[in-house]
Amino acid sequence: MALLDKFSSFLKDKEQLLSIKPAIFGTNIERIYSPTEASIAGHKVLLAGTNNYLGLTFNRECLAAAHKAIDEEGTGTTGSRMANGNYSLHRALEQELADFYHCKHGIVFSTGYQANLGTISGLTGPGDVLLIDAHCHASIYDGCKLSGAEVIRFRHNDPEDLNKRLVRLGDRAGSTLIIVEGIYSMLGDTAPLKEFVECKKQHNSYLLIDEAHSLGVLGDTGQGLVEVDGVGEDVDFITGTFSKSLGSIGGYCVSNHPQLDVIRYMSRPYIFTASPSPANIASARAALVLLREGRHLREQLWKQANRLYSHLKSLGYKLGPEPGPVIAAQLETPEEAIAIWTTLIEKGLYVNLIFPPASPENKPLLRISISAAHNDVQMDFICKLFSELAQGN
Ligand code: PMP
Repeated sequence: MALLDKFSSFLKDKEQLLSIKPAIFGTNIERIYSPTEASIAGHKVLLAGTNNYLGLTFNRECLAAAHKAIDEEGTGTTGSRMANGNYSLHRALEQELADFYHCKHGIVFSTGYQANLGTISGLTGPGDVLLIDAHCHASIYDGCKLSGAEVIRFRHNDPEDLNKRLVRLGDRAGSTLIIVEGIYSMLGDTAPLKEFVECKKQHNSYLLIDEAHSLGVLGDTGQGLVEVDGVGEDVDFITGTFSKSLGSIGGYCVSNHPQLDVIRYMSRPYIFTASPSPANIASARAALVLLREGRHLREQLWKQANRLYSHLKSLGYKLGPEPGPVIAAQLETPEEAIAIWTTLIEKGLYVNLIFPPASPENKPLLRISISAAHNDVQMDFICKLFSELAQGN
């Protein structure tokens, strides 16, 4: 097959999906008005597929911080920190993240994707083992590939399966990094973290948790699942992103291991890319303060999430195992999922449409993400639309 032939077969296979209007992949957001409102295909829609969990993208303090940073430090850093140098904003945010988690060390990356790529490939290499939960995000899988370490998947959220595999590894368990997530991005379920911590202690392995979807959402100060389970000291590395609760772009890893600082000199996704822009860092710093103090935002988020989860459950939708800011309804066929998604847009609601392999069990998902910025009227509207759908209207 010639180099470019695969594109024709891809386009042929996907012809029907790619011709649907509005586009189901990379839907065109014509205008964005607020954290919860936009216009798509000429319809004003309520946004419930943003991961904007605390609704901070239009927060006045975050906007002001970003504007000030642009005025004072310019629009971009135009290069990597290794070659072009650190801005004081980068260092300041690293310290603030480390302090937030009561950790000694912190590194900021240009995206959450790169935080996983850079941390995993920086920490592990050929001869090491990566034991990852089967539902881990693509950035974790890609980080594993880049590392050259042996990769073994264990059954999703199954400490017994993890334990079995660690036993099988014998002495190699000591050079094993276990990777899990706080809240899983597709079904919104949380990890049995305390049990995973027990496993890693028993086998002298290391544990990394990605708190991308749990930062700002779980825990009294919003650290994530580590805070709820009180295991911050026992988890070796915490990664996360600025692109959800913090409403910016960037990613991080924090740890008490001094080796985290050394990966700056060997992690290709840290070294060979431009550092985050002043505006991104400044708004993330402002948002981190609001997130830490944001108990009222978490209360609002959980009130709305619990309400929608119970409502959808009562209508008979097949949902993930527990309520949370991500509520996903599993559907039987792509045709059914596309029809519902398109009807929702026409009626004024935007949610995410996810197909396998991104969704588990080879079934499509309608994935709804809730924000603290959703008010009661907006939640009434979402509940009403799903009631109508369930009645076949
Ligand atoms: N980890 C998880 C679990 C994610 O869901 C995502 C993005 N959806 C990322 C990492 C990557 O984050 P970013 O968008 O900042 O690259």
